[in-house]
Amino acid sequence: MQEFIPSADVVGIYSCGPTVYSFPHLGNMRPYVFADTLRRALRWKDIAVRHVVNITDVGHAVADSDTGEDKLEMAAARERRSVEDIAAFYTKAFFDDMAALRVMPADVYPRASEYVPQMIEFAARLEELGYTYLLPSGLYFDTSKSPGYGSLALLDVAGQREGARVEHVEGRRNKTDFALWRAEEPGVRRVMRWKSPWGWGAPGWHLECSVMSMSLLGPHFDIHTGGIDHRQLHHVNEIAQSEAYLGDGRPWVRYWLHNEFLLMNAEKIAKSAGGGPRLADLTEAGYHPMAYRLFLLGGHYRSQLDFTNQAMDAAQATVRRLAARVEALRPLPAAETFQAARALLPGPGPDADKAAVAYLDQVDEAISADLATPKILAALQESLRDPEISAEGLRVVVAAADALLGLGLAELDPRAVDRRRSVSDLDPAELKTIERLIAERTGARREKNWARADEIRAELEKLGVQVTDTPAGPAWELR
Ligand SMILES: [Zn+2]
Repeated sequence: MQEFIPSADVVGIYSCGPTVYSFPHLGNMRPYVFADTLRRALRWKDIAVRHVVNITDVGHAVADSDTGEDKLEMAAARERRSVEDIAAFYTKAFFDDMAALRVMPADVYPRASEYVPQMIEFAARLEELGYTYLLPSGLYFDTSKSPGYGSLALLDVAGQREGARVEHVEGRRNKTDFALWRAEEPGVRRVMRWKSPWGWGAPGWHLECSVMSMSLLGPHFDIHTGGIDHRQLHHVNEIAQSEAYLGDGRPWVRYWLHNEFLLMNAEKIAKSAGGGPRLADLTEAGYHPMAYRLFLLGGHYRSQLDFTNQAMDAAQATVRRLAARVEALRPLPAAETFQAARALLPGPGPDADKAAVAYLDQVDEAISADLATPKILAALQESLRDPEISAEGLRVVVAAADALLGLGLAELDPRAVDRRRSVSDLDPAELKTIERLIAERTGARREKNWARADEIRAELEKLGVQVTDTPAGPAWELR
């Protein structure tokens, strides 16, 4: 493990942001909950940060390739809306989910569309320095001129050359070369197009992150984060073009942190493959957003997480139990930094709360050791069961752990955690309708009218009622 030594009073963090052409799915949330944990960890250590998350509203091409159709433009055509509408709509959807998950807002959310002139200048500078060559399909970065190319990914460049993501581009010198500028294909007029020294077109998809991070955080900054899928290609290319541009022989960014995937049925959830479940799907099914947050934090950010119903049920139950237990301890003190939390506990002597001090140390060790959120969660749960800890000490430990976990335990209502309805929540008219439909379905089954029975089952499902046929007759429950 590497020690983090800040290079400035305010640590610059850049996180690769969303491409806003469709709803973010659950897997898309993980990088931001992870970056949020990192920010909370730095706050815990009393280190100020400036966090930048870009909004990609200039669509890069389908399958993240350098050529071909543009994702935003395809979405606009599909939904019969303008690209600006599409970007605004899905940007809002992203912000809504971030807020529901209690992710602290970034300091700046730059839009790629607002930085195209700077991207053109950046590419022109690389051209001037001799790092590029021009093809009919655009301006390309020559990766053979970048001495350390691929070192971030421990990249086997030969391996990447054979990789499935590498498309064939006519005239490209090396398979790892990538587009800085994507020229408009002859006879095809893009909706989002800009004039450049290389003709009309759009920037290549790696360019925006280098340009916007340098504009907002300075030429060099401390931390760059993103999903592990960016490590092989996007970040490798960001580094190559940035270090070529700066030309000062220093690493562009000092620390790279990547979160692992969320797996669903043991497969990566890819947005392009038709969209995975969204946060809204979870809340509609009765899960609280904090249950999803806790599920994510229950795994280390560098471990793959398997999303299952059972895991979500367990997370929901844990959040509810935590909220119910903490309710009796409110109000909680402010304990966002280790020092502030420690100062709230009595010093050594007869009044010392050894148990509370030990839990606080456990929390500090866990967050210091590469953001080990599962260990913080364990320390929190253990402290709540510990008969040795004082009530005041427990308040401090809970507040401190939650400053890092971000579950909002200071005010989370345990009754709001489980919104699944029970039969007693139904009003008499609803109950009557359900009972009538169940009776009708039983009648249809008796007459072997299976089509009608299925129709009624579908109707009941719309009302949130699930019917199971048992030897004793139909049983039903609310979902
Ligand atoms: Zn990026």
